[in-house]
Amino acid sequence: MGLLALGTPLDWDETKPLAEHIRYHGISQFLKTWDRWKDNTGKGLLWGDEIEYMVASFHDEEKKVLLSLRQTEILTKLQSVTLDPALDKYKPAGCNAIPTFHPEYGRYMLESTPGFPFSGTPSSLVSVEADMRFRRQIIRSHLKKHELPITITAWPRLGVSNAIFTDPETYPDPESSSSKSNYVGQLLTNPHARFPTLTANIRQRRGSKVDIRVPLFIDENTTIPEGMNASISNGHATPAKPEPGTPYIHMDAMAFGMGCCCLQITFQAWNVDEARKVYDALVPIAPIMLALTAASPAFRGQLADVDARWNVIAASVDDRTEEERGLKPLKNDKYRIPKSRYDSVSLYLSNDERNKPEYHDVEAPINADVRKRLLDHGLDDKLASHIAHLFIRDPLVQFSETIDQDDELSMDHFENIQSTNWQTIRFKPPPVNSPIGWRVEFRSMEVQLTDFENAAFSIFIVLLTRAIISFDLNFYMPISKVDKNMQRAQERSASTSQSFFFRKHVFPQDKPLSRFDLNSRPVSPPNNPSSRSSSTPVSPINSTFPNGFAAASSSSSNQHQRENSSRSSSSCSTPIEPENIDESPEMSIDEIINGDGENFPGLMGLVNAYLNSLNVDVCTKCDLRRYLDLIKYRAKGQLVTPAVWIRRFITSHPAYKRDSVVSDEINYDLIRAMDEIERGVRPAPELLGKDYVGSGPTGCL
Ligand code: ADP
Ligand code: MG
Ligand code: MG
Ligand code: MG
Ligand code: MG
Ligand code: MG
Repeated sequence: MGLLALGTPLDWDETKPLAEHIRYHGISQFLKTWDRWKDNTGKGLLWGDEIEYMVASFHDEEKKVLLSLRQTEILTKLQSVTLDPALDKYKPAGCNAIPTFHPEYGRYMLESTPGFPFSGTPSSLVSVEADMRFRRQIIRSHLKKHELPITITAWPRLGVSNAIFTDPETYPDPESSSSKSNYVGQLLTNPHARFPTLTANIRQRRGSKVDIRVPLFIDENTTIPEGMNASISNGHATPAKPEPGTPYIHMDAMAFGMGCCCLQITFQAWNVDEARKVYDALVPIAPIMLALTAASPAFRGQLADVDARWNVIAASVDDRTEEERGLKPLKNDKYRIPKSRYDSVSLYLSNDERNKPEYHDVEAPINADVRKRLLDHGLDDKLASHIAHLFIRDPLVQFSETIDQDDELSMDHFENIQSTNWQTIRFKPPPVNSPIGWRVEFRSMEVQLTDFENAAFSIFIVLLTRAIISFDLNFYMPISKVDKNMQRAQERSASTSQSFFFRKHVFPQDKPLSRFDLNSRPVSPPNNPSSRSSSTPVSPINSTFPNGFAAASSSSSNQHQRENSSRSSSSCSTPIEPENIDESPEMSIDEIINGDGENFPGLMGLVNAYLNSLNVDVCTKCDLRRYLDLIKYRAKGQLVTPAVWIRRFITSHPAYKRDSVVSDEINYDLIRAMDEIERGVRPAPELLGKDYVGSGPTGCL
């Protein structure tokens, strides 16, 4: 949760002179935490998701759906400590904590987190979906009859010119709103002082309004602006950033990006070293999961030629000056900065010897003073550089009441910089005065239509982190390749039509485990309760690799798996020499997730191997299999991404005129359909498979 303390926000001219003070004390605060926590361990794996919703307001007579701006009212009810007894029936067994609800940037947005973080045991993973649905039911119970919470990443008609898209009506105010947007008004933004101040200070620091451009999807009747080159977008997608002279959708406010919804996962590591290792391993995973969860094919009332939000949100908070962006020679500013504050990770963080210098092949400016201070305090180079890279940024929001802080008791100045570095992965130090330890947050995924999907992706990421730790996996590859993948991940239909760089040799070289060994004897950090149960040996059938877990569910595939297993164990006894081949070649998402059928087991193979190393009962395995299958089949292209589904819905709607326009009528039917799919009253086997059961025909209480 961001800083939401109340106070008097300073404007940019008042904040800028405080930047050095805030950074200096931010580092002092971090060092206090470092001294307290560097050798401390957390309480083992605890993790939780954050799901963001938009509140849709339906106007059936006019076939219109608008964004409801009742966030403040709704949150007041949601944050009351008691739970309506009528909701008890939705409460998952074993759930003792009332879920938590948070404000978000858009005044039409809500965020939920579990009331208490989950553990990582397979049986508790099975109840994640129920917890998510419980939260959705609680939200529903506080909405008006014509309102529904929708987990949609980007609202297709947000910011359409000369149209009403909010309830109540709002109008742009380019003169006096904090964004000065020509498309969205002040009332779209959360009224808490932090948000308008953030918006205005980003714009003022940058020296101009933010400038967001995504390529337009060109159809037969699309209006092409004069002087632009365009040909019909056919099978082949264009790059995720518009090429010069080609038509694009223009946006000019923070709301277009920070007003998108996503799915984030935070988990507590055993200690700081484990957090750093998992952080690094997840860096190359971020673009893969962005492609698989892509859910945003339309912006400002038009179809885009991208499927995901990332570049939109990166540009929406890009506070870099012209000097920092390299448009002018450096004179007043200190650094050339290649990326927005919201972008992919530029530096790996672990002290692992496998984290080689050659992987750091993108420009990552460093605050040299900060780095020196951290090194002088005894921190190692990797951690010092990570923090020093975050600390090239200026603070954006400061309240006059909290300029002077007790560095023993506060992390606010540190968090001021940290929480406005919105990277794909976030390394979260322990809060002050709290038992919470070192954590890592996975931030690239788009929110899914259903909690079944949201649970599936959350569970998959959590299990993958367990596999990373248990098997000491190596996913390192050059950051430049990760950055390329980030762009590819946003292209139209990327998960089936693009290829992605990924490391093929993921097992530790000094531990040449055969596949069977891998299953029966995972490497677990000593005294780590989060992986303690993984030392239990398992039966040979269930430990086949990479698909042995799937084999447990049907006898015909058992046969196949046995054959598979004998093949793979023989091929694995020959060690592979990674030196002479491209360490991280291009692969399809299917190969990256499901394996190449030869030496690379795929991320699912690794997750399966981890599960096989645990003593999981058959019921729990079958329950988990439902979630993992969603990812497996989506990676194969047998199930579509939400972006593909939404785009198809729009382009096959009877009112669609082949002009790229998402009209009110189409949007109304789309959002209705999304709600019906979530509740299971409208089948969508192409998206969810045949067995999906929704939250029920009435949905509301
Ligand atoms: P932010 O918005 O700063 O990313 P939130 O507070 O909204 O953070 O969400 C944090 C998530 O971290 C929640 O889902 C919570 O359940 C989870 N979490 C992970 N580990 C812990 C822990 N040790 N203690 C508390 N929460 C944790
Ligand atoms: Mg949050
Ligand atoms: Mg937050
Ligand atoms: Mg959030
Ligand atoms: Mg494209
Ligand atoms: Mg978060």
